[in-house]
Amino acid sequence: MKIGIVGAGMVGSAAGYAIALKGTASKIVFVDYNAGLARAQAEDIAHAVPFASSTVVTAGDYAELKGAGVVILAAGVGQKPGESRLELLTRNAEVFRQIIGKVLDAAPDAILLVATNPVDIMTQIATRLSGLPPARVIGSGTILDTARFRHLIGEHLGVAPRSVHAYVLGEHGDSEVLCWSSARAGTLSVKDFAAQMRVPLTEGVKARIDDGVRNAAYTIINGKGATWYGIGAGLERLVRAIARDEQTVLSVSIVTPKVEGVQDVALSIPRIVGAQGVVSDLFPELDDGEHEALGASARLLKETLDALEY
Ligand code: ADP
Repeated sequence: MKIGIVGAGMVGSAAGYAIALKGTASKIVFVDYNAGLARAQAEDIAHAVPFASSTVVTAGDYAELKGAGVVILAAGVGQKPGESRLELLTRNAEVFRQIIGKVLDAAPDAILLVATNPVDIMTQIATRLSGLPPARVIGSGTILDTARFRHLIGEHLGVAPRSVHAYVLGEHGDSEVLCWSSARAGTLSVKDFAAQMRVPLTEGVKARIDDGVRNAAYTIINGKGATWYGIGAGLERLVRAIARDEQTVLSVSIVTPKVEGVQDVALSIPRIVGAQGVVSDLFPELDDGEHEALGASARLLKETLDALEY
């Protein structure tokens, strides 16, 4: 499958690097309004390919996206000093207004993967601007938060994260909801697993894991200014699920008809992902507190969207 990546900055290039190293795509095309940057990223990544796969990596204009099965939208602008979150959002909405028409002119059958932050709002904007069905406009959402959650649970339990089934729901951001009540390891609830392993899941341990998931991005940003490898790998995982028609359950963001009474809001819940994009939503079982927190997250996202003029 041919993959387009619009936005050859840190996130776009990390996604391209992960896709190229794993050989997930036959071809990757980078597009950026900074054409020199797109070319440089493509060339740098192309030089890694002989060590790993046979993916062809190039850069070009929008027309070069012709035939792409997936286009990752990683273009965006940084926050100016003194700029509000909403002003930044308005400028990023303008970026999407400039690129989405051109992407669809070249690749009308592509599934759009949105990586630009704030990802849930940008997914909602991309869905509206593209006119595509929500199942084909997928935000990376909490895919990475879910990976961090599983990593920290696995670390505490002494089990591989792949044997942990736990999800982070809602906004990719401060209001996200760590879904403890349905978290499982192997065949057991994480609570029972922890008891059997004699590493009790105390409130203190849960609070530490919650903090680790919720604040991971802030810690990384403090150390290196931004985050890109984790999300790059998450985007590769998402592309793989689509390219190989896997029907894999991933926590991703799409516009969802109704979440906790809030209508048409983009946020993450576990969903089945395959060649057609999102095939099905899987609403997890939640306890009362989680229901409430997911509702609050949905309302917050909807209010932000309503305040935005685009
Ligand atoms: P991140 O860390 O989110 O990847 P970057 O600033 O590194 O952020 O990357 C964002 C990329 O998006 C930049 O390379 C920038 O040139 C690109 N970009 C911004 N606006 C547009 C646009 N209108 N069209 C195409 N590319 C754009």
